[in-house]
Amino acid sequence: MSDEEYIKNNIEDIRKRVGTAAVKSGRKPEDIRIIAVTKTVEEERIIKAINAGISDLGENRVQELLKKYDNINEPCNWHLIGHLQSNKVKYIIDKVTMIHSVDSIELLEEIHKKAEKAGRVIDILVQVNVAGEETKSGIAPEEVRQFLKEAAVYRNVKVKGLMTIAPFSEDPESVRPVFRELHKIFIDINKENIDNIDMAFLSMGMSNDFEVAIEEGANIVRIGTAIFGRRNYIA
Ligand SMILES: *Cc1c(COP(=O)(O)O)cnc(C)c1O
Repeated sequence: MSDEEYIKNNIEDIRKRVGTAAVKSGRKPEDIRIIAVTKTVEEERIIKAINAGISDLGENRVQELLKKYDNINEPCNWHLIGHLQSNKVKYIIDKVTMIHSVDSIELLEEIHKKAEKAGRVIDILVQVNVAGEETKSGIAPEEVRQFLKEAAVYRNVKVKGLMTIAPFSEDPESVRPVFRELHKIFIDINKENIDNIDMAFLSMGMSNDFEVAIEEGANIVRIGTAIFGRRNYIA
């Protein structure tokens, strides 16, 4: 099998599985957005994924995103999904569709300032560290409500939802409670109608757990390994 076919088959397989999980949770397959996570993946392989119908790409490092953004001319949406330092916001502000990993008011304020300067309103998600893992970024679940109230004043930032990375586990069932908890927060906050906060997206689920995440309410999944194969190094 060529690499082209390998990537295309993987994407088709994922689409089917996404569709099944969507229907299982009372939604339509097209309600779920698939982001291909392209960190460490060569540009020519990313283009193969785009040719197979992928339109959203996720990178977790600014440097890498900028390089690929310059070299890949196919129309696609870029998402920053990894930890973002305030001093790097200026490089990506006019390039990304959404930032999934906002985890401090300082960062949010910086995004607002640079977005204002660029004359745009940028969509962001607030990253929540549901399981309280020390190695992961994100605010605590009990801080979400207060965070959103503070975020509401920054008019060039539009909070569009929540994101989490579940602890890695061989058994996706073991992280179901993590997804369920974030979905509950998502629903509760949506009901509160906080000014300037639109709970539209719940970004959770990766290669090993995306079906469970969708069953528990995710409408964005971020998938790398299951599309491109195992990465050579951890990023
Ligand atoms: C790497 C990464 C993913 C994708 O992980 P896979 O297990 O390869 O699907 C998703 N989200 C974030 C934030 C990542 O850094």
